[in-house]
Amino acid sequence: MLPLVALVGRPNVGKSTLFNALTRSRDALVHDQPGVTRDRHYGVCRPEGKRAFAVVDTGGIAGEDEGLAGATARQARAAAEEADLVLLIVDGREGPSALDDEILDWLRKSAKPTLLVVNKTDGIDAEAALAEFARYGIAEMLAISSAHRRGIDTLVERVLERL
Ligand code: GDP
Ligand code: MG
Repeated sequence: MLPLVALVGRPNVGKSTLFNALTRSRDALVHDQPGVTRDRHYGVCRPEGKRAFAVVDTGGIAGEDEGLAGATARQARAAAEEADLVLLIVDGREGPSALDDEILDWLRKSAKPTLLVVNKTDGIDAEAALAEFARYGIAEMLAISSAHRRGIDTLVERVLERL
């Protein structure tokens, strides 16, 4: 069985776009509306000449009545339990949010190896975006742009180092 990497984060940070970049598929739904990917979605990343690993794109809003925060935390917990490595995806343009904090809490409790991936750093100061998330205390942080495929190869290398 392939090792499993979970893409976790609040809606609209670019999880599905990253899933597509990693798996080179158009399978995951990418949408401007938050919460379009409702179910967990699996694919395989097959980097040339390197080990393959499975990727799971976790969903957005699950239930209407339980609230966004609860659904997101529950989803992060489920993914964290199942995966070998968690990529916490955040939005480098918007900076840290309350939902990011909540997801981070769950991940800390799960003690899963976590890499912080700061997405959407195209056209902005990537170093400044990274610095905004330094207080999260995650040792490994990486700035990428899923939409422009920037930093994806480096991300894959970092992931393979941890699997
Ligand atoms: P998800 O809800 O976390 O799965 O987010 P999506 O992958 O559906 O993306 C949400 C929105 O952000 C879409 O409009 C994407 O085109 C946009 N997006 C995703 N990645 C990037 C990126 O690297 N840069 C920019 N500028 N936009 C992005
Ligand atoms: Mg999605």
